[in-house]
Amino acid sequence: MTKSISCSDAGKDCKWSASASTEEELMEKVTQHVVKEHKEIELNAESISSIKSLIKDI
Ligand SMILES: [Zn+2]
Repeated sequence: MTKSISCSDAGKDCKWSASASTEEELMEKVTQHVVKEHKEIELNAESISSIKSLIKDI
């Protein structure tokens, strides 16, 4: 099973998406992307759990 996420699912005007085999690996990629491209998003327990709710199994 592959985990996938894309910024457009979060309502962002951004074409970035990523996939990984585990949620941990995917969240690592998400974190790096958010830190670089979405400095307005503060990564805290609340935003991380809402990001996790956007993860799809493909
Ligand atoms: Zn993005």
